[in-house]
Amino acid sequence: MTVKIKSAGFTGIKGTLITVELDISRGLPSFNIVGLVDTSVKESKERVRSAIINSGFEFPMGRITVNLAPADLRKDGSLFDLPIAIGILAATEQINCLDIEKFLFMGELSLSGELVKVNGALPIVIEGIHNNISNFIVPIANSEECSIIKNSNVFPFDNLTQLSYFLKYRDMLPYKPKNYKSISIEPIDFDEILGQDSCKRAVEVAAAGSHNIILYGSPGSGKTMIAKRIPSILPDLDYDESLEVTKIYSVSGNLGKDGLITQRPFRNPHHTSSQISLVGGGSKLLPGEISLAHNGVLYLDELLEFKRNVIEVLRQPLEDRSIKISKYCGNVVYPANFMLVASLNPCPCGFWGSKEKSCTCTEHERKRYMNKLSGPFMDRIDIFTSIQNISYDEINIRKTAESSSTIKERVEKARKIQKLRFKNYNLSCNSEMTPGLVKKHCKLTSQCSEMMEKVYNKFHFSVRAYMKILKVSRTIADLNEHKNIETNDLLEAIQYRKLINEEIS
Ligand SMILES: [Zn+2]
Repeated sequence: MTVKIKSAGFTGIKGTLITVELDISRGLPSFNIVGLVDTSVKESKERVRSAIINSGFEFPMGRITVNLAPADLRKDGSLFDLPIAIGILAATEQINCLDIEKFLFMGELSLSGELVKVNGALPIVIEGIHNNISNFIVPIANSEECSIIKNSNVFPFDNLTQLSYFLKYRDMLPYKPKNYKSISIEPIDFDEILGQDSCKRAVEVAAAGSHNIILYGSPGSGKTMIAKRIPSILPDLDYDESLEVTKIYSVSGNLGKDGLITQRPFRNPHHTSSQISLVGGGSKLLPGEISLAHNGVLYLDELLEFKRNVIEVLRQPLEDRSIKISKYCGNVVYPANFMLVASLNPCPCGFWGSKEKSCTCTEHERKRYMNKLSGPFMDRIDIFTSIQNISYDEINIRKTAESSSTIKERVEKARKIQKLRFKNYNLSCNSEMTPGLVKKHCKLTSQCSEMMEKVYNKFHFSVRAYMKILKVSRTIADLNEHKNIETNDLLEAIQYRKLINEEIS
């Protein structure tokens, strides 16, 4: 007897419907799975056999052939355990298979028959809904993420036995999501940082236009404290952005028990991170830190401690806002539209230019240290700001600082202007402008143009750096509610660029 069970897999962050065809015929006992499957699917045989027997069912004698169709699509993962087991139980009439084609099954099985959480459940549900499938049978640990999608009827189960009862009696209503609002574990706010006004202003500009920023200063000056607070001034994620972030966390197995992710990600990989952990890949083609930071902040603390090849590999995703990973087992494209925030010590000892301590490095050592940053990488940075240790007096005089919510209001206002500006294009921030859009929206007055020419020649800016200055000055003008870029907007933007040229070269 042949049965067909609906299931699905995923490539990148996109789900693909898969039909599990199962045939049991007479002959010597055998169990084969075909259809371009990798080893993780092949291992499924042992789990399915044990799970069926340990749940009190009979494992059939005979030739069992499982075909995962379409055959030309590579499948990996253990989520086909459940549809295969259901196929065997249906083919041997051990479960009620009335209307079974109305359900999509996914789940890994433990040897004792429990349903174990799988990765990628969210993109699978989305693909199912697109194909008019609305009933999903999933492990209980996947229930929150699957019920994010409207019109999906999610039926979560603990084990195979429970599921067989449901198929027999249909005695359950779809799962209702808890709908709780996730709260920040560590409420952090800019009002905890006294002083550092110029650095905070630079960060505000960066947040307003989603510009990449480098914080430059000696150890202990508070670079990490400031970087960590950047998500608190970024606008809230809208539903589509949240969904995209959640999909990435779903396929990478980072979702935990939560449903929709509503907070902007802040990723802080260690400087010993490998290229693969940063950009993604490996045998399973999983997303890396740059994709986990999508729609949020990627913070690289002590940028120059990272290996040079790791820094350089960021150049392409910084430009394209996505990353393509190619391997013998296939290609995937993950979104990687993040705001890069990096901190930098001015020299190997960290105290060059500091008021408190004197630097012990030679000029040669310092140059060599800074040379680790290539020109093309620096061209992808929009804002460069230095940060100084604040003096004791400053702490005493200033008792309060502006809160994150006040800064966020200004950022949101500037973002609104940008959204309106780019409503006919597939972009939302000034930093994403193409050269054509820069030309259209960053027109300079003759006075600004004259000023630009002078600094361009003086500092030998590259064309890319020139474009960055225009984009940043557009953001500053938006923050200042100026229709056109004015002299002081441009001056501030040049200031953020000038520092790069002065310090690095
Ligand atoms: Zn030094």
